[in-house]
Amino acid sequence: MRERMKTIGIIGGMSAESTRIYYDRLNSEARRRLGGLHSADLIIRSLDFAGVAELQAAGRWDDAGRLLVTAARGLEAAGAEILLLATNTMHKVAPAIEAVANVPFIHIADATAERIVAAGCKRPALIATRFTMEEDFYVGRLRQRFGLDVVIPEVDERAMVHRVIYDELCRGIVADGSRLAYEGLARQLLARGADSVILGCTEVGMLLNAASVAAPVFDTSLIHADAALDLALADTVRAAAE
Ligand code: GLU
Repeated sequence: MRERMKTIGIIGGMSAESTRIYYDRLNSEARRRLGGLHSADLIIRSLDFAGVAELQAAGRWDDAGRLLVTAARGLEAAGAEILLLATNTMHKVAPAIEAVANVPFIHIADATAERIVAAGCKRPALIATRFTMEEDFYVGRLRQRFGLDVVIPEVDERAMVHRVIYDELCRGIVADGSRLAYEGLARQLLARGADSVILGCTEVGMLLNAASVAAPVFDTSLIHADAALDLALADTVRAAAE
């Protein structure tokens, strides 16, 4: 009797640029781990990010949460057995999804923090949207649940990072000037005492990676995708029709 990996459902499109990173990572890792013609068993619900970004800017998080709950329900109805929300920022409304999910929901901050703790790092810097850097849903979780002392950029640095995410990366624009600015910021944060860097927005890997930062780098999109694949493979089910 053949076993199959579980089906991963991705609530994506936030932005489409980073959902593409999840798609590539899940498939390349499935192929690397299983060999042959294997790829990940996936369902993607890719939202139009313009509408989501408008709700964010207007502070209409409850409406955004309802949108994501509908997406999560649709994925489950279509057969998803594990759920991923492929954005750090929208984890602000993760509790709304967790409240209705009947299958495991892998929280991006938890998956990332587990890797940071396992690597022995304690003072990670966070490069992310302003929502993620400034509000408690993310940094508070890293502090309270994992004891991490998160280093946050200064206010003008946060504005720069946020602008690049929304004006460039989410639109598929990768600019050398922004890469230099992000690399410079990572250096500053390490000089201020950070021992590692969290790429805490799922597009930031378009500008920074392990080769461009002189300290451990934790890329949330890659870590999140890998955590889902770990679970999909650990928890296999009997393939139907065999
Ligand atoms: N993908 C980004 C993140 O991980 C930002 C886009 C969004 O607001 O969802 O936070």
